[in-house]
Amino acid sequence: MEDKTNLNPLNSNVLLLNKYYIALRVISARRAFLFLAKDYAEVINKNNGRFEGYRFYHWIKESGNDGYLDDEYIHTPTLRILVPRVIRLLEYDKMPRREWKFNRKNIMIRDNYQCQYCGKKYSLGFLTIDHIIPRSRGGTTSWVNVVTSCTKCNTKKGGRLPQEAGMNLIKKPQAPKFDHSLMRLLINPKYSIWKEFIKDISTKLST
Ligand SMILES: [Zn+2]
Repeated sequence: MEDKTNLNPLNSNVLLLNKYYIALRVISARRAFLFLAKDYAEVINKNNGRFEGYRFYHWIKESGNDGYLDDEYIHTPTLRILVPRVIRLLEYDKMPRREWKFNRKNIMIRDNYQCQYCGKKYSLGFLTIDHIIPRSRGGTTSWVNVVTSCTKCNTKKGGRLPQEAGMNLIKKPQAPKFDHSLMRLLINPKYSIWKEFIKDISTKLST
């Protein structure tokens, strides 16, 4: 999930909550406005330390307040509307997916596209998936036995265990517990409000 904010406020990221205030996923502001306009969702905004819900009409009114001048707006011929950071679905009660699907792409996302042996980052074409304990020696295809490896390190290791090849893992692989791409976005102060909801999701995930 890339932060394309600088290009257009409509590409900003918006955290989508279900009706129980549980984080579901990140959507674009463009999509968020669609949900709002159809009255499927409300904006969640912090006001004097409290979270409040705003239906679209009220959000447009709220956008007229001067307290938000540093924030992002979209402009129509007659209005300026604040880009929301969090919206909450009014009906939909789907729960977030608790587990990551085990596949090649998610292994690489977990490992941050970084070879887990030499520590270098590569583009997709130079990355492979390595079984730490080779399959030929009973290694499983699971989160704890596969890592992202560059082609060079993978070739060097061959059918051996890392210690036999004199190679070390930069970290012990685990099943991902949390959305790493979301964590990266959290660094951006403009999404600081998300933390309040994501704390909730990570507690849930660890239980
Ligand atoms: Zn490598």
